[in-house]
Amino acid sequence: MSTESTVEKLVSLCKRRGLVFQSSEIYGGIGGFWDYGPLGVELKNNIKQAWWRAVVQERDDMVGQDAAIVMNPTVWKASGHLDTFADPMVDCKECKKRFRADDLVGAVPAGTHGHDAAAKVTSCPECGGELTEPRMFNLMFRTYVGPVEDDASTAYLRPETAQGIFVNFANVLTTTRKKLPLGIAQIGKAFRNEITPGNFIFRDREFEQMEIEYFVKPGTDEQWHQHWVEERYNWYLGLGMRKENVRVRRLEPEEQAHYAKDTYEIEYLFPMGWSELEGIANRTDFDLRRHAEFSGRELEYFDEESGEHIVPYVIEPSSGVDRLFMAFLVDAYAEEEVRGEKRVIMRLHKDLAPIKVAVLPLSRHEKLVPPAREVWGLVRKHWMSQYDDAQSIGRRYRRQDEVGTPLCVTIDFDTLEDKAVTIRERDSMEQVRVPIAGLVDALREKLNTDD
Ligand SMILES: [Zn+2]
Repeated sequence: MSTESTVEKLVSLCKRRGLVFQSSEIYGGIGGFWDYGPLGVELKNNIKQAWWRAVVQERDDMVGQDAAIVMNPTVWKASGHLDTFADPMVDCKECKKRFRADDLVGAVPAGTHGHDAAAKVTSCPECGGELTEPRMFNLMFRTYVGPVEDDASTAYLRPETAQGIFVNFANVLTTTRKKLPLGIAQIGKAFRNEITPGNFIFRDREFEQMEIEYFVKPGTDEQWHQHWVEERYNWYLGLGMRKENVRVRRLEPEEQAHYAKDTYEIEYLFPMGWSELEGIANRTDFDLRRHAEFSGRELEYFDEESGEHIVPYVIEPSSGVDRLFMAFLVDAYAEEEVRGEKRVIMRLHKDLAPIKVAVLPLSRHEKLVPPAREVWGLVRKHWMSQYDDAQSIGRRYRRQDEVGTPLCVTIDFDTLEDKAVTIRERDSMEQVRVPIAGLVDALREKLNTDD
């Protein structure tokens, strides 16, 4: 499979099966914005739930929060985004196309922003025309708060969720009465007016982040940094990502963001090459010090052991839901031969699969409808499920396979006599007969969930 065909096949599958649509498609769409359809929103929610469970619910040193998208604009002065969150941009004087200068160089990883990434390429990759000098272009979306549109009312859609955590550090510390190390997790939308969004949902203008700010005592930061790199790497493998497709890379000193002491990236082997899934940065005390300076508030922690006020260091594991969505799909997608026929199968981890159980009456025969409906009623109290009675049973299995449904339950004419149904597994295609009375337990055992 060529790289292009893999992404094209995924885009087509996502559209055909209702995972991802182009935003406002009936009006021709809008670049860098995507909508998640009925199956897509399930997969996306499952990714977020798996993350929240691992980093908040199952830990004793983490709490969650949910900050507003629009914040006091001084936040972005303090964070440096107003001054430095910009990409160099060049225009073609002939065809008028606009490019990210660092894309033309190709040496700078996606997501890197700033003056360092200036371009050396001087001709248009599309038409060979002459390019303008690079100009800096701030990536924050601007808006106005209230009825007057002037400088005083200018606000921004947040380009990252992280700052919403830093500005709440003192609130969370006081209200939870927790000691360091203490982490705060947040999932939420962020916005970047990327010059050239692309590669499907890999680089969007509106996207969703899952970020952790993990506050530690200075001096313990390097050890906690290693901890989080391991934790996060293992999370991907635990959700079934193939080891050969995931790697950890330590950034070179010249690749580090201005606030970072050290950064690791967890990278995935996308069809277009190794690219960042998650960045794990040691941001030191940069952010808390900046916010203390700009707000005039003390953002410190009283360390009872030493009897001193300290400014914590921060380890930041930061990932994008949309990008993970794409990686999990790429990783799970497979084509195989079954009895001379091609089968497309999405080998998604059962926790991620949009639909856990499909309920399939053998046909639309009137005698099969009541027991099939009854079975669906039992199943959908526990799991996301789907009832499908259109076309042959073989085609319905294929339809479930290609969206990753781990289990299908089939109701046939024997069901009318033996009060039993057939469970069919996606990967092995093995089938077992179980009584309807024991169906929920049997499904629970196979899905290995605790609800
Ligand atoms: Zn051109």
